[in-house]
Amino acid sequence: MTILPNFLKKRAFLTPDRMALEMNNKCLTFAQLYKQSVIFARKLASTGIKKGDTVSIFMSNSIELVTIIFALKNLGAITVLHNLRLTTKELSFQLEDAGSQLLLIDHCSENSLRQQVNIPILSNLELANLKEMELCELLEEVNLNDTDTIMYTSGTTGFPKGVKQTYGNHFWSATGSALNMGLHQEDCWLLAVPIFHISGLSILMRSVIYGMKILIHKRFDAATVHQDLMTKEVTIISVVTAMLNGLLAELGSGTYPPSFRCMLVGGGTVPKSILSECKSKNIPVYQTYGMTETCSQIVTLSPDSALLKLGSAGKPLYPNQLKIMKEKQEASSYEIGEIVVKGPNVTPGYFNRTDATLAAIQDGWLYTGDLGYLDEEGFLYVVDRRSDLIISGGENIYPAEIEAAILSHPFIEEAGVTGMMDEKWGQVPIGFFVIKQGKTVEKEQLIEHLHEQLAKYKVPKQFYSVSSLPKNASNKLLRRKLLDFLPKEGDDEHTES
Ligand code: ATP
Ligand code: MG
Repeated sequence: MTILPNFLKKRAFLTPDRMALEMNNKCLTFAQLYKQSVIFARKLASTGIKKGDTVSIFMSNSIELVTIIFALKNLGAITVLHNLRLTTKELSFQLEDAGSQLLLIDHCSENSLRQQVNIPILSNLELANLKEMELCELLEEVNLNDTDTIMYTSGTTGFPKGVKQTYGNHFWSATGSALNMGLHQEDCWLLAVPIFHISGLSILMRSVIYGMKILIHKRFDAATVHQDLMTKEVTIISVVTAMLNGLLAELGSGTYPPSFRCMLVGGGTVPKSILSECKSKNIPVYQTYGMTETCSQIVTLSPDSALLKLGSAGKPLYPNQLKIMKEKQEASSYEIGEIVVKGPNVTPGYFNRTDATLAAIQDGWLYTGDLGYLDEEGFLYVVDRRSDLIISGGENIYPAEIEAAILSHPFIEEAGVTGMMDEKWGQVPIGFFVIKQGKTVEKEQLIEHLHEQLAKYKVPKQFYSVSSLPKNASNKLLRRKLLDFLPKEGDDEHTES
């Protein structure tokens, strides 16, 4: 059992006047943030919330959200962060699953929710207006084994599961990241990903553990984020590929200020064309692999290896171990199998899901559900999700490989590939794509482009040009929903290849 002091209280004691966060030109030091979090803890205590209770949050990025998250830690309550794009039905399921006693929401989303959710709800405004409970016990220290937050997985492959994230998981995640990327006195991390997702929450935790300023955006907007990267002495930003694309368009032929030192790109593979463009513009891209279950990054590739190891997600961070398992045996170099990871940032399991926990974690090793391989130097290459694998005539086809080939067409903005039942082959790949604004792509031309790069059996048998692809709140492609995009009978959208 390892005990540490209350994270934010300790930080406010060490560096009270250092800037903790900035949003919409409003700034808070660590001392101010802690003070506010104590006020909100006392207000929450007046509603009956105490140590060990579960409290849900359904809010967009804001200073209030950050304050509430730390207020709940001051009380020792478990915080459940929900994706803002959930339908009320999905949210209700998660509230019940997590056994939440209270739901905290943004003032603006109040009305519709109140009628449909059957646990007490408080908006940030109502909470601010509550009286503070003077005699409430505030947590002085934390046990690293205690659950701090519960976060549901994105639900890319199926129903989201509640991942338990302990104080220790967050602490070690932040430590592993700093040991990899270094920590500079003047670091400022731009947070434009959702805090309800681990990519956002982990930035918040790093801020407090490192004593580092964060610049919060409500949501990602390429033009405003670009403006801040150019003018606000940001040193690090976390993005997914779609965001990086938007930023590259904003940057044009320019370059970022020299103080900008890290573009952390995660959540999915980065197309090689984008990596080369970043290299030519001197953008320090760190590719990273991680998930809700590993509390963010677990494998990272630094810029010096980026082009030597094109397409790799890097090596496991200092506190982590990684192996590839194939048919219950450890795979040799270049053999594709399931990515299995271990370390103090890995979740102890899923909330209320003993079955899923036992299936995923064996002897402390987490079976990620992702397929990949290691090269002879131990660099990881993520291939695809096990559940998205297409088996056609006995051959394994990885949708990500085909999507990358489609995306290498200069006029294509987005691509998605999934398997469709086929009498002859069992399954065949079919492709969906979004064309860049103002461009046209003939499907025959695209098929020719793919035949130059892929074996014939991998080239999708049908193609559909669509205006957008199904995505979740983390902007991830939902391949299992692609088939819903198939046009109705009589539609002439498709082409056989
Ligand atoms: P669910 O588990 O409910 O299907 P999810 O896995 O999308 O949802 P997250 O935890 O948000 O939920 O996402 C983690 C996943 O994202 C990883 O398991 C992996 O499939 C993918 N991913 C993350 N980083 C990379 C990367 N660098 N390359 C390829 N895939 C990545
Ligand atoms: Mg997952």
